[in-house]
Amino acid sequence: MTFTPPLGKKWPVAILGATGAVGQTFIRLLMNHPWFEVAEVAASERSAGKPYSEAARWLEGEMPEAVAGMMVQPTDPSRISSAITFSALDSSVAGDVERAFASAGKFVLSNAKNFRMEHDVPLVIPEVNADHLQLLDRQRKERGWKGAIVTNANCAATVAAVAIAPLEESFGIDRLFLTTMQAVSGAGYPGVPSLDILGNVIPYIADEEPKLEREMTKLLGKYADGAVQKAPMKVSSHTNRVAVEHGHTVCITASFRNSATVEQAVEALRSWKGNESTWNLPSRPQHPLVVADEPNRPQPRRDVDAGGGMTVTVGRVRPDPILDIRMVALGHNTIRGAAGGSVLNAELLAATGRLPAA
Ligand code: NAP
Repeated sequence: MTFTPPLGKKWPVAILGATGAVGQTFIRLLMNHPWFEVAEVAASERSAGKPYSEAARWLEGEMPEAVAGMMVQPTDPSRISSAITFSALDSSVAGDVERAFASAGKFVLSNAKNFRMEHDVPLVIPEVNADHLQLLDRQRKERGWKGAIVTNANCAATVAAVAIAPLEESFGIDRLFLTTMQAVSGAGYPGVPSLDILGNVIPYIADEEPKLEREMTKLLGKYADGAVQKAPMKVSSHTNRVAVEHGHTVCITASFRNSATVEQAVEALRSWKGNESTWNLPSRPQHPLVVADEPNRPQPRRDVDAGGGMTVTVGRVRPDPILDIRMVALGHNTIRGAAGGSVLNAELLAATGRLPAA
């Protein structure tokens, strides 16, 4: 499948929460995007009415000139003309705002937790569960929205789900233990105070464990007859904040429903290509999942930027004396786990003809 927008035009898009850590990642990823063009940026009342260069404390590299002079808009659907909005809003406001945008006819690609578990809202990692987008028909019908909300998962859940998907597809997962080591950029900007995190590990991230546990079963669930049937696995997690800039590491221990050797599991991981409908999407990496052979990988410093930050790297795949298998997965939290995941979701919407004409 190949796809280009009608007449080579690009879709104008707005970024909500554009000044934050994820909002800035959207801007970087969309700067030379073949299908989408950043037309509007919006943030809180603190930022609205200021040029973007004044409102945002730019975190990485050079601020692109194309956005530096843009006026930050208030986060109000009547002030945004783009039909496609990427939301990097804080969850304290995302619920009301995203509902208002969808009901005003906007397509909202959301990073916030608020709608992820609603029965009619797709929670999508395209390579894993592209077919869950079919929930949009039900969403439209039941809510009467002209627009829509499509969510991407919690950043640690995204890394774990990409790593687990090939094993779930091949053997079925029965029980799953997840222990995370999550980067400071996962807490946004300014995030965790430096005196709390430097030389330290914080064994608590508010609301993270329930999010990780519930989102895994929806992400890996099966779509049928207008609903997602949650994957029948038990998930237990520990989540920790560590002094790493970018990249969430997840130690995974799992048992299979249908028995498999470690060699068979490694083969399933290595040969996994992800859903075919994603193969030609611009932001999809050539390999969404890579198995590292070195005994001391993956490591955030060495592997976080694999595939432009869109590849999840798995390593240390070995037998487990209590369950069946153990391994370590790593992915970029603000790219694969946030903005890059959202952009890939928008590309999938476009390529499946679900976006309004450009
Ligand atoms: P952040 O750095 O704190 O940025 C939050 C953004 O929300 C800022 O642009 C802020 O604008 C805006 N905002 C706050 N209050 C607002 C209001 N009342 N009205 C309108 N805009 C408001 O947070 P982040 O890390 O980018 O996270 C953004 C979202 O993505 C959150 O829901 C988070 O849970 C989710 N997420 C983050 C990651 C990650 O790795 N960081 C991964 C996955 C998902 P001002 O600058 O004007 O205050």
